[in-house]
Amino acid sequence: MQKLSMLAGNVFSGVPLDRVDHLRTDTAWIEARLNDPASRFVPVWNQQSIVFDGAEPRAALNDRQSIAELLDSNAPLAFLGVTPDDGGIAHFAVDFSHLPEETLTARYTGGALMDLRDSVQLVPAHEASILAYARGLMYWHRKNGFCAACGHKSETRRAGHERVCTNPACGAVHFPRTDSAVIVLVHDGDDCLLCRQSHWPTGMHSTLAGFLEPGESLEEAVAREIFEESGVQVADVRYHSSQPWPFPASIMVGFMAKANSREINVDDKELEYAHWYGRDWLRNVVDSDDFRMPGKYSIARRLIGDWIDGNFQV
Ligand SMILES: [Zn+2]
Repeated sequence: MQKLSMLAGNVFSGVPLDRVDHLRTDTAWIEARLNDPASRFVPVWNQQSIVFDGAEPRAALNDRQSIAELLDSNAPLAFLGVTPDDGGIAHFAVDFSHLPEETLTARYTGGALMDLRDSVQLVPAHEASILAYARGLMYWHRKNGFCAACGHKSETRRAGHERVCTNPACGAVHFPRTDSAVIVLVHDGDDCLLCRQSHWPTGMHSTLAGFLEPGESLEEAVAREIFEESGVQVADVRYHSSQPWPFPASIMVGFMAKANSREINVDDKELEYAHWYGRDWLRNVVDSDDFRMPGKYSIARRLIGDWIDGNFQV
């Protein structure tokens, strides 16, 4: 496994597990890990995780015995990986979405079902990345019970990292998919372009973003999305970093781009408005119902912060 410190990145990346792809097809090894008292199970319920709040909030990572009464053939499982440096403790995601909410809350006394956007602000970063991984993989299984090619049922393979169509005449193999989105800090001198969408939390402003389309490079998607949404033309598009974004199945590819024009012409189907904001104003602004930054865990916040502080050569 590569040293995680070399790959330090945004929140939700840096899963502290070796994914050991070559062991996913070793069914005897996987079965042994499933029954290993040391193995840990990450419960997912309708894309939410269980968090125990308190002085040191932690995510629920259970041994098998403690959730044995909840495990049955209706609970999809996927192998996540093994810890790299303490004997290789296997981690699995398990989806309990078929169970009533009361069953979960009764089992996890003192814990609360929580969306990842909330739990990421409580639990340690390494646990947030495991929750993101588990949530993303379990969402894919829930949405892909039937073959997209022929409509027959599909079933899990490779310890939960593939699904195969059960129709012998088809046999299509399906893989977990990740939808690419670009997210962009557009700058012009000491100003940057931020926007607001009407459905966002009160006062929240952020960078512009959009999905990559077929037949398009990431840089082209940056230029197209910025122009479509704001009317601003950009050049000198520079890659910054990326962030797994399992809401529900994306990766945010972050860029900084130099504006070639200033006039804003908003697509009001996409945005409530967009404005240029000065570096010094942003540096000193205090969150309020009129203006607040994106969550500190988000790549949007990092793009804005790195631009304000001059941490990224633009
Ligand atoms: Zn099929």
